[in-house]
Amino acid sequence: MELEKIIRDVPDFPKKGIIFKDITTLLQDGEAFRLALNRMLKKYLDERIDKVVGIEARGFIFGGALAYKLGCGFVPARKPGKLPYRTIREEYTLEYGSNSLEIHDDSIAAGDKVLIVDDLLATGGTALAAARLAEKLGGEVAGIEFLIELGFLHGRDKLVKYPIHSLITY
Ligand code: AMP
Repeated sequence: MELEKIIRDVPDFPKKGIIFKDITTLLQDGEAFRLALNRMLKKYLDERIDKVVGIEARGFIFGGALAYKLGCGFVPARKPGKLPYRTIREEYTLEYGSNSLEIHDDSIAAGDKVLIVDDLLATGGTALAAARLAEKLGGEVAGIEFLIELGFLHGRDKLVKYPIHSLITY
Protein backbone atom coordinates (compact mmCIF):
# COMPACT_ATOMS: atom_id res chain seq x y z
CA MET A 1 0.00 0.00 0.00
CA GLU A 2 1.36 3.41 -0.97
CA LEU A 3 0.62 5.61 2.02
CA GLU A 4 1.51 8.85 0.21
CA LYS A 5 -1.47 8.36 -2.10
CA ILE A 6 -3.81 8.43 0.90
CA ILE A 7 -2.66 11.82 2.23
CA ARG A 8 -4.87 14.68 1.03
CA ASP A 9 -3.35 17.99 -0.13
CA VAL A 10 -5.38 21.04 0.91
CA PRO A 11 -4.03 24.16 -0.79
CA ASP A 12 -4.05 27.53 1.01
CA PHE A 13 -4.77 26.12 4.49
CA PRO A 14 -4.39 27.58 7.08
CA LYS A 15 -2.81 30.41 5.05
CA LYS A 16 -2.41 31.26 1.38
CA GLY A 17 0.61 29.51 -0.14
CA ILE A 18 0.70 26.58 2.31
CA ILE A 19 -0.20 23.15 0.98
CA PHE A 20 -1.61 21.45 4.07
CA LYS A 21 -0.98 17.72 4.29
CA ASP A 22 -4.28 16.40 5.61
CA ILE A 23 -3.72 13.04 7.34
CA THR A 24 -7.37 12.48 8.27
CA THR A 25 -7.77 10.52 5.02
CA LEU A 26 -5.12 8.10 6.30
CA LEU A 27 -6.55 7.97 9.83
CA GLN A 28 -10.02 7.08 8.63
CA ASP A 29 -8.63 4.13 6.63
CA GLY A 30 -8.10 1.40 9.22
CA GLU A 31 -5.65 -0.61 7.13
CA ALA A 32 -3.53 2.42 6.23
CA PHE A 33 -3.50 3.73 9.81
CA ARG A 34 -2.38 0.37 11.20
CA LEU A 35 0.25 -0.03 8.49
CA ALA A 36 1.67 3.42 9.26
CA LEU A 37 1.83 2.66 13.00
CA ASN A 38 3.49 -0.72 12.43
CA ARG A 39 6.10 0.86 10.17
CA MET A 40 6.85 3.55 12.78
CA LEU A 41 7.05 0.93 15.51
CA LYS A 42 9.42 -1.51 13.80
CA LYS A 43 12.67 0.25 14.68
CA TYR A 44 11.85 0.39 18.38
CA LEU A 45 10.56 -3.12 19.09
CA ASP A 46 14.00 -4.29 20.27
CA GLU A 47 14.92 -1.04 22.01
CA ARG A 48 14.16 0.23 25.47
CA ILE A 49 11.79 3.19 25.25
CA ASP A 50 10.55 4.70 28.52
CA LYS A 51 8.41 7.57 27.18
CA VAL A 52 6.78 8.54 23.95
CA VAL A 53 6.41 12.31 23.60
CA GLY A 54 3.57 13.20 21.23
CA ILE A 55 3.37 16.72 19.82
CA GLU A 56 -0.02 18.49 19.89
CA ALA A 57 -2.28 17.66 18.30
CA ARG A 58 -1.73 15.10 15.55
CA GLY A 59 1.33 13.66 17.29
CA PHE A 60 -1.03 12.49 20.05
CA ILE A 61 -2.84 10.17 17.66
CA PHE A 62 0.30 8.29 16.62
CA GLY A 63 2.14 8.74 19.91
CA GLY A 64 -0.61 7.25 22.07
CA ALA A 65 -0.88 4.17 19.87
CA LEU A 66 2.91 3.70 19.78
CA ALA A 67 3.18 4.02 23.58
CA TYR A 68 0.49 1.36 23.97
CA LYS A 69 2.34 -1.01 21.65
CA LEU A 70 5.71 -0.32 23.33
CA GLY A 71 4.20 -0.67 26.79
CA CYS A 72 5.69 2.66 27.87
CA GLY A 73 4.41 6.01 29.12
CA PHE A 74 2.98 8.79 26.96
CA VAL A 75 3.85 12.46 27.46
CA PRO A 76 1.86 15.20 25.70
CA ALA A 77 3.89 18.19 24.44
CA ARG A 78 1.28 20.93 24.32
CA LYS A 79 0.75 24.53 23.23
CA PRO A 80 1.23 27.04 26.07
CA GLY A 81 -1.38 27.23 28.80
CA LYS A 82 -2.99 23.84 28.14
CA LEU A 83 -1.24 21.69 30.72
CA PRO A 84 -2.61 22.05 34.25
CA TYR A 85 0.48 21.34 36.37
CA ARG A 86 4.04 22.83 36.50
CA THR A 87 5.59 23.00 33.05
CA ILE A 88 8.81 23.78 31.23
CA ARG A 89 8.68 25.64 27.93
CA GLU A 90 10.59 25.96 24.62
CA GLU A 91 9.97 28.56 21.92
CA TYR A 92 10.07 27.53 18.24
CA THR A 93 9.24 28.80 14.77
CA LEU A 94 6.71 27.12 12.51
CA GLU A 95 6.29 27.05 8.73
CA TYR A 96 3.33 29.37 9.34
CA GLY A 97 4.09 31.38 12.51
CA SER A 98 5.79 30.89 15.85
CA ASN A 99 4.76 29.16 19.05
CA SER A 100 5.96 27.42 22.17
CA LEU A 101 5.65 23.89 23.49
CA GLU A 102 5.33 22.82 27.10
CA ILE A 103 5.58 19.55 28.99
CA HIS A 104 4.97 18.80 32.64
CA ASP A 105 8.18 19.07 34.63
CA ASP A 106 7.71 15.61 36.17
CA SER A 107 6.85 13.84 32.90
CA ILE A 108 10.33 12.54 32.07
CA ALA A 109 12.92 11.19 34.51
CA ALA A 110 16.69 11.57 34.16
CA GLY A 111 17.98 8.73 31.96
CA ASP A 112 14.62 8.02 30.31
CA LYS A 113 14.86 6.92 26.67
CA VAL A 114 12.44 9.10 24.78
CA LEU A 115 10.77 8.62 21.41
CA ILE A 116 9.33 11.83 19.94
CA VAL A 117 6.42 11.55 17.50
CA ASP A 118 4.65 13.99 15.21
CA ASP A 119 2.66 13.72 11.99
CA LEU A 120 4.85 15.98 9.87
CA LEU A 121 8.35 17.42 9.68
CA ALA A 122 8.35 20.84 8.01
CA THR A 123 11.10 23.27 9.15
CA GLY A 124 11.97 21.11 12.17
CA GLY A 125 11.41 23.78 14.82
CA THR A 126 8.58 21.96 16.58
CA ALA A 127 10.40 18.63 16.86
CA LEU A 128 13.59 20.36 18.00
CA ALA A 129 11.64 22.13 20.76
CA ALA A 130 10.18 18.77 21.89
CA ALA A 131 13.65 17.18 21.88
CA ARG A 132 15.05 20.04 23.94
CA LEU A 133 12.21 19.75 26.45
CA ALA A 134 12.95 16.04 26.90
CA GLU A 135 16.65 16.78 27.31
CA LYS A 136 16.01 19.56 29.83
CA LEU A 137 14.47 16.93 32.09
CA GLY A 138 17.44 14.58 31.59
CA GLY A 139 15.83 12.38 28.93
CA GLU A 140 17.79 10.89 26.05
CA VAL A 141 16.19 11.18 22.62
CA ALA A 142 16.24 7.65 21.17
CA GLY A 143 14.44 8.71 18.01
CA ILE A 144 12.08 11.14 16.30
CA GLU A 145 9.37 9.62 14.13
CA PHE A 146 7.26 11.40 11.53
CA LEU A 147 4.61 10.14 9.20
CA ILE A 148 5.49 12.81 6.62
CA GLU A 149 8.59 14.84 5.82
CA LEU A 150 8.55 17.92 3.58
CA GLY A 151 12.09 17.37 2.30
CA PHE A 152 12.29 20.71 0.48
CA LEU A 153 12.11 22.57 3.82
CA HIS A 154 15.27 20.80 5.10
CA GLY A 155 13.92 20.33 8.62
CA ARG A 156 16.30 17.39 8.94
CA ASP A 157 19.25 19.82 9.06
CA LYS A 158 18.01 21.13 12.42
CA LEU A 159 17.77 17.63 13.84
CA VAL A 160 21.09 16.13 12.73
CA LYS A 161 22.07 15.11 16.23
CA TYR A 162 19.02 12.84 16.56
CA PRO A 163 18.04 9.59 14.82
CA ILE A 164 15.05 10.70 12.75
CA HIS A 165 12.79 8.72 10.41
CA SER A 166 9.83 9.55 8.24
CA LEU A 167 7.56 7.15 6.37
CA ILE A 168 6.69 9.47 3.48
CA THR A 169 8.87 12.20 1.97
CA TYR A 170 7.56 14.85 -0.42
P1 AMP B 1 7.83 22.57 11.73
O1 AMP B 1 8.12 23.05 13.11
O2 AMP B 1 8.04 23.66 10.72
O3 AMP B 1 8.61 21.31 11.39
O4 AMP B 1 6.29 22.25 11.64
C1 AMP B 1 5.79 21.02 12.00
C2 AMP B 1 4.45 21.13 12.64
O5 AMP B 1 3.56 21.96 11.93
C3 AMP B 1 3.79 19.78 12.74
O6 AMP B 1 3.16 19.66 14.01
C4 AMP B 1 2.79 19.77 11.61
O7 AMP B 1 1.59 19.14 12.02
C5 AMP B 1 2.54 21.23 11.27
N1 AMP B 1 2.69 21.53 9.85
C6 AMP B 1 3.62 22.34 9.28
N2 AMP B 1 3.50 22.43 7.97
C7 AMP B 1 2.46 21.64 7.64
C8 AMP B 1 1.82 21.29 6.40
N3 AMP B 1 2.26 21.77 5.21
N4 AMP B 1 0.78 20.42 6.44
C9 AMP B 1 0.35 19.91 7.62
N5 AMP B 1 0.90 20.21 8.81
C10 AMP B 1 1.94 21.07 8.83
